[in-house]
Amino acid sequence: MSLLSDLVNLNLSETTERSIAEYIWIGGSGMDLRSKARTLPRRISDPNRLPTWNYDGSSTGQAPGEDSEVILRPRATFPDPFRRGNNNLVMCDAYTPDGVPILTNNRYKAAEIFNHPDVNAEETWFGIEQEYTLLQKHVKWPLGWPVGGFPGPQGPYYCGIGTDKSFGRDIVDAHYKACLYAGIDISGINGEVMPGQWEFQVGPAVGISAGDQLWVARYILERITEIAGVVLSFDPKPIPGDWNGAGAHTNYSTKSMRTDGGYEVIKKAIDKLGLRHDRHIAAYGEGNERRLTGKHETANIKTFKWGVADRGASIRVGRDTERDGKGYFEDRRPASNMDPYVVTSMIAETTILWNP
Ligand code: ADP
Ligand code: MN
Ligand code: MN
Ligand code: MN
Repeated sequence: MSLLSDLVNLNLSETTERSIAEYIWIGGSGMDLRSKARTLPRRISDPNRLPTWNYDGSSTGQAPGEDSEVILRPRATFPDPFRRGNNNLVMCDAYTPDGVPILTNNRYKAAEIFNHPDVNAEETWFGIEQEYTLLQKHVKWPLGWPVGGFPGPQGPYYCGIGTDKSFGRDIVDAHYKACLYAGIDISGINGEVMPGQWEFQVGPAVGISAGDQLWVARYILERITEIAGVVLSFDPKPIPGDWNGAGAHTNYSTKSMRTDGGYEVIKKAIDKLGLRHDRHIAAYGEGNERRLTGKHETANIKTFKWGVADRGASIRVGRDTERDGKGYFEDRRPASNMDPYVVTSMIAETTILWNP
């Protein structure tokens, strides 16, 4: 066992310039992360200098068997916390051999919006609160819950400590440090209201990089749960009934919102989001209707409402923002399984580009 871990931890730089690049992409379900590795002559961290690659799209539900090749284009790189040394994680998006973005390439559409000069000028910041649930491997029941039964009711678990209240902290902390190692702007972690549920936050991150960073943070988390023998779930309501669901609150600001008079800009942006409520809800994650019930710190999926410090609203404005007359707001509607490329770019499009 120890010789095996010695070998896994070998420092390649002692004998070679060569480097391992782990290419990551999103599979056909839209939530399945896939990856495979290749050897490079040396470390290459500029995504534009990395080679394109390909994969078998018929094995991920993204291409027919008779024409199965899908092309990977590197978009962002991160120091690899698993292999360390000169090795990188590489976030990619996917194209047909003719160079057309494949149907599930949401990053391409998002980048078009973020590259629009009006959006670019507003320096959009996003802070995404990713909630998730850890499950016991064989029974797929939350970590720390008695198999075939339930823990005591919610109350003591949120930000709780102690062996009967906090389940999986080592995984959470390993992930926190691994993300910082990788250069991800992870801003914090906390235990959630439902036992076995946790949250990490990525941000503030600018434009498309919020999506890249959140996807790589999810990737790192699932790799760590794999090591720990625990199953990771992004289901927005993993346990029906009187248990909190899992969301991905998206905090957002533009340059004009962050400068004096920004509160007026924020209110106009929120009005526009209200006018497009249905369209946003349709893009904010699968199964979100099980979570947005109007209970457990959510607004009902059918109603749009906003408020200062209101955790039962669709959009919450913080007390600080109201007091300072500038700042940011929180879209509380996105589900834990949302695609951050879709959600961030849609918020930017509705609030900056769209004229009702
Ligand atoms: P909550 O109080 O809802 O639990 P969190 O503290 O979990 O909020 O997350 C808030 C997120 O918003 C953090 O990632 C933080 O970095 C981010 N954030 C802070 N300021 C801004 C801003 N001006 N624009 C966008 N995001 C911001
Ligand atoms: Mn939070
Ligand atoms: Mn939370
Ligand atoms: Mn929040």
